[in-house]
Amino acid sequence: MFEVVIGLEVHVQLNTKTKIFCSCATSFGEEPNTNVCPVCLGLPGALPVLNEEAVRKAISFGYAINATINKKSIFNRKNYFYPDLPKGYQISQFEIPIVENGELFININNKTKRIGITRAHLEEDAGKNIHHGDESYVDLNRAGTPLLEIVSEPDMRSAEEAVEYLKKLHAIVRYLDISDANMQEGSFRCDVNLSIRPKGDEKFYTRVEIKNLNSFRFIQKAIEYEVERQIEAWEDGIYEEEVVQETRLFDTKTFKTKSMRGKEDSAEYRYFPEPDLLPVILTKEMLEKGKNIPELPDEKRERFVREYKIKEYDANVITSSVEMARFFEDMIQEGASPKLSVSWLTVELIGRFKGDTTIENSPVDSKKLAKLVKRIEDSTISAKAAKDVLDFLMENDIEVDEAIDKLGVKQVSDDSAILAMIDEILSKNKDKVEEYKNGKEKLFGFFVGQVMKASKGSANPKIVNKLLKERLST
Ligand code: ADP
Ligand code: MG
Ligand code: ZN
Repeated sequence: MFEVVIGLEVHVQLNTKTKIFCSCATSFGEEPNTNVCPVCLGLPGALPVLNEEAVRKAISFGYAINATINKKSIFNRKNYFYPDLPKGYQISQFEIPIVENGELFININNKTKRIGITRAHLEEDAGKNIHHGDESYVDLNRAGTPLLEIVSEPDMRSAEEAVEYLKKLHAIVRYLDISDANMQEGSFRCDVNLSIRPKGDEKFYTRVEIKNLNSFRFIQKAIEYEVERQIEAWEDGIYEEEVVQETRLFDTKTFKTKSMRGKEDSAEYRYFPEPDLLPVILTKEMLEKGKNIPELPDEKRERFVREYKIKEYDANVITSSVEMARFFEDMIQEGASPKLSVSWLTVELIGRFKGDTTIENSPVDSKKLAKLVKRIEDSTISAKAAKDVLDFLMENDIEVDEAIDKLGVKQVSDDSAILAMIDEILSKNKDKVEEYKNGKEKLFGFFVGQVMKASKGSANPKIVNKLLKERLST
């Protein structure tokens, strides 16, 4: 029996307006090599100036994960050659990162598990190499974008735990609004470090690193493949040869990992303190201000359970993203009940999203969905009709009440109208009324059904039930 050991490195692009060491914009999708200057092009003599916003964002992340925030940290040069790295080194942090010894909590099989966060350090992103057939290009727009590299302890024991950790981390940086964490655009990238060991063994075995995974699904698949590869090698007696410290790439077509290069030791990077930057000394003001972080997913979940009396499971789903949590609370603000808001948001609305529709660009906003829920609660429409109304609202930009009118799905809740229908049904079925009064109570359902049918489903069933009972008891 084997145990899997996983530690994750996540590169989060901080959403500052400008780059970490110059004032070029960080905007995504611009013409290649337009957001550049002598500093981020690495021209000789150009000097870096640290972006204070990036430091502030790193501090709030530190508070969010209960970490030590180092009052003094330093930048280092990490030397390596690559075409998208114009200076021939990356400015990063090494011995003294800005954030150390943090933690976050994940939920696995209804148990809370702590995952240690070794460090989070600031560094600059590289540019991008673009390959077209035989030709290769370099776009340096991304060079110098601030990154927070977040390194976990090797505390995860399954693909599931790794994905839960990443989802929690993703939620935290979104809640803090320090990154847009868009995985497709590469602003939240993950390297998986993985080894196996016989269960019960204390020591760690050789790890491989799988680089640059950009979706939760690929991460899951990459881990599954790699675990199997290592176990097989062990069982075939070729573990030593097959599992070596190296960097591997995940092929998104075959779902296999393959060797890319041997793993550098940190010595090969010839780290040394960056002579063009002073140590970073945090002021009291920066630390005090940094403590002002918004409510985070765990606290929000607990508050939702307490305040709105919704189920823990639902609260977990809703707080998994800051946008969904906001949408939910906006619905309640608008007067919808928490219970119906949960299902109409997490099941009905999200279930109708297609393509790249998300909470943020949903054609039905929180106000409209709340109104729809209120129309169920005040019996204007049945829950069943509300589904048709929602279908219609997804396609048409009109008000809820207008849609209800247009579809003609209003419930009849008016006593006299319903009584008229009841009386007609009862007079048509005198024999059955007789039977009912003689004790065949089962027939009640038959009468309800007939009234509903006569109203073409528009009668409010609660009122039909109530009035029928009254009529039949006289
Ligand atoms: P590097 O930059 O060389 O990849 P880091 O210290 O930045 O080194 O990251 C190492 C990562 O590998 C950490 O997330 C750590 O938890 C993880 N790790 C270390 N040893 C093992 C191991 N034996 N098995 C799995 N993960 C490991
Ligand atoms: Mg690594
Ligand atoms: Zn620049």
